[in-house]
Amino acid sequence: MDKNDKKIIIAIDGYSSSGKSTMAKSLAKAIGYKYVDTGAMYRAVTLYAMRHGMIGKDHVANAQAIEAALPDINITFMLMPDGTQHTMLNGEDVETLIRRMDVSDNVSPVSAIPAVRRNLVSKQQAFGTERGIVMDGRDIGTTVFPDAELKIFVNAPAATRAMRRVKELQEKGIPASYDEVLANVESRDHQDETRAESPLRRAEDAVDLDNSDLTLEEQDAILVRLYKERISR
Ligand code: C5P
Repeated sequence: MDKNDKKIIIAIDGYSSSGKSTMAKSLAKAIGYKYVDTGAMYRAVTLYAMRHGMIGKDHVANAQAIEAALPDINITFMLMPDGTQHTMLNGEDVETLIRRMDVSDNVSPVSAIPAVRRNLVSKQQAFGTERGIVMDGRDIGTTVFPDAELKIFVNAPAATRAMRRVKELQEKGIPASYDEVLANVESRDHQDETRAESPLRRAEDAVDLDNSDLTLEEQDAILVRLYKERISR
C-alpha cells in the first residue's frame, strides 16, 4: 500500500472548550477524514435524561434509570448541505439544544456513569473500524483508541477557554454570561478529571498543544504537519 493511502486514527483530547472540536473538524476536512465529536454523544444522552426527568435540579443523575434507557437512545450524525455535521437524537436534530448551558451543567454527572461510558465508547470504537477518523473528547487516546497513531492533548488557561466559549455561544444565539461559562468550564474539568471511569487524562504518548496564542491557521498547520509525519512513518 502506498504510504499516502495509509489511514490512521487521530485522537484529540483536552479540557472543556479548549477548541478541540474546531481543531478536529478542520483537520478532518483538510485530510478527507471522518470526524466524530464524542462530547456531542454525551450531551445527547444528557438531553434525553433531562427530558425524561432523570436528572434532579441539584444535577444529580439517576444512574439506574439512565442505564435502563440506553437501548432507547439512538445517536447519529447527519451531514448538512453546508458541510456541517449535526447531532441527531432518535432522529431529531438536537445540534443547538445540546450546546445550551442547562445541558452543559448536567453533562459531567451523566458522563461519569460507567454504563453510559461503556455504551458510548463501544459506539465510538465502531466508528473507527475503518480508521481514517479524527475523534475528539476526553478519553479517546487513553480508552477509546489507545492505539491511535496520533494523539493530541489540547489545553489553554480556563479564562481563555471561557472567553472563547462565550463568543461561540453568542454567535449561535445561545445566551450565556462569562462568569457562568467560566464556572461551568472549571466545574466540568474537575468532574471529568476526578471521575472513576476513564477520567480526562493526557495519554503518555500524546503531543501537547497549548493553543492560547495560536491563530486557527497556525493551529491547522501544526496539525497537518503532525499528520504527515505520522503517515510517513
Ligand atoms: O466536548 P464537550 O465539552 O462537548 O463534552 C461535554 C462533556 O462530555 C464533557 O464535559 C465530559 O463530561 C463529557 N465527555 C466525556 N468523554 C468524552 C467526551 C466528552 O466524558 N470523550
